[in-house]
Amino acid sequence: MAELNPVGDLHRDTLAVRTAVPRSAYGENSEALYLTSGYVQPSAEASARRFAGDEEGFTYGRYGNPTVASFEQRLAALEGAPAAISTASGMSAILMMCMGLLKSGDHVLCSQSMFGSTIKLIGTDLAKFGVSSSFVPQTDLAAWQAAVRPATRLLFAETPTNPLTEVCDIRALADIAHNAGALLAVDNCFATPALQRPMAMGADIVMHSGTKYLDGQGRVMAGALCASQDLVTQSFLPVLKSAGMTLAPFNAWVVLKGLETLDIRMQAQSARALALAQWLQVHPAVARVYYPGLSSHPQHMLAMAQQSGCGGAVLSFELKSSEPDQARARAFHVLDTLQTLSLCTNLGDTKTLLAHPASTSHGRLTPAQRDAAGVSQGLIRVAVGLEHITDIQADLDRGLTTI
Ligand SMILES: *Cc1c(COP(=O)(O)O)cnc(C)c1O
Repeated sequence: MAELNPVGDLHRDTLAVRTAVPRSAYGENSEALYLTSGYVQPSAEASARRFAGDEEGFTYGRYGNPTVASFEQRLAALEGAPAAISTASGMSAILMMCMGLLKSGDHVLCSQSMFGSTIKLIGTDLAKFGVSSSFVPQTDLAAWQAAVRPATRLLFAETPTNPLTEVCDIRALADIAHNAGALLAVDNCFATPALQRPMAMGADIVMHSGTKYLDGQGRVMAGALCASQDLVTQSFLPVLKSAGMTLAPFNAWVVLKGLETLDIRMQAQSARALALAQWLQVHPAVARVYYPGLSSHPQHMLAMAQQSGCGGAVLSFELKSSEPDQARARAFHVLDTLQTLSLCTNLGDTKTLLAHPASTSHGRLTPAQRDAAGVSQGLIRVAVGLEHITDIQADLDRGLTTI
């Protein structure tokens, strides 16, 4: 069986490259990729003990894999979490969390600014199984408190949010959850453990779309939950075993290697995002910039304290215009004029990706819902990559100056 080399009390930089390197008898230095769906058992007795959970050892690909286990251990180390469990995508991590924690009659309390598919899964799909939900304004702590019910089991927020980068107070939400006997889960996709470690601020569960910055180069889908060993073993692993939202070994290997460069990518991409936000803020065609690293951001101080003094790599900006049709035409012009950067509704890539939220991620909302979410027709989201800042600005300026 593969040895996962143990790590002691090391710094995060070291943990990112040294935690849980699966190493076979060949002694390979790079992380081994184990592509197998089954495992030969040493004896029928050992097999029985492993299936019963009385002995460590891999049995079947849906339940576990050495490369997948390495990714989970490394992510847990970076989040400062006791354990982690991975899934095929970010959404299936949320499904695993809900299936593991909730039953008919329970209530979930979420920010209304969450990822669109999260709102759909919790608000619509879970409702079919008798789980109710409420959605409250991201930054209004009194609204969170007022919406708590006796049946509330889970509070769920994402910070910063997509696309307006609203920041919520993780510590305050943890207090509200714990006073109600509920758990707090935080979607940490945007900040990543490089900038923000919600468990240190009281969160019980950290959820990830590994598809974004953990991979970091736009290659694979992946997801994960970080939590206590008890939650992982008692609540989430049984769901994985029966429902099978298992992360594929190859995808696990890609995100495992992605974690090695997470910190330096987040620092470099965030530095470019700050420079771009400052440049856009004074551009004559731009009405408003949303970026936690700007002092004009409403939760700037909170964001700096919670996110290692860093705003992250995603920003949004609104174009000047007098009415929605004109705003949409202007946004489309800026996006259609791009020559270097990508028009692509994804984020967390080394390539800068731009999107028009009103017609893509938020396109299925009614105009009233879109207004409530603050997504206007003139809004453009930029997930800043690693291109030179001058080239990023020049590519945007081509469209902004010819509106
Ligand atoms: C992309 C994303 C998800 C969903 O993850 P998938 O890997 O696409 O399933 C959840 N939350 C946030 C904030 C995201 O950006």
